[in-house]
Amino acid sequence: MARAALPREACGVLGGAPPMTPEDPIEISTVIPVENRADDARRFELDPAGLIDAEDRLEAQGLVMIGVMHSHPQSVAAPSPTDLADAARYDPRSDLLHLIVSLQGFAPQVDLWRYPHRPSGETVAVRLPWSAYG
Ligand SMILES: [Zn+2]
Repeated sequence: MARAALPREACGVLGGAPPMTPEDPIEISTVIPVENRADDARRFELDPAGLIDAEDRLEAQGLVMIGVMHSHPQSVAAPSPTDLADAARYDPRSDLLHLIVSLQGFAPQVDLWRYPHRPSGETVAVRLPWSAYG
């Protein structure tokens, strides 16, 4: 999916069961691709209609949107300054997961992040422990 969008960034929605408590382990049940409508090849913007459609599909499966994924065609699987700046807008409470797929190397690299916002207004990136099969 990430390669199909090249040279642009791919993006999509991560779906999972609604968390019952903050301590519950988070499980990504599904990834639904959403069209990237950003004009700039180095950023992504989820198509609003595609986002609504994805949320409907999640709801039909008893799931909710727990995060966002996007790809980095030519850089590492860490958020860019643009990613962090954009997240202040669509993830104001820092409750979304951010999965980044890097296609820079021979094999894709995947990392999972949260973007807490500091009281100063600065948004920082915290990498989460990641296991493919629980
Ligand atoms: Zn990015």
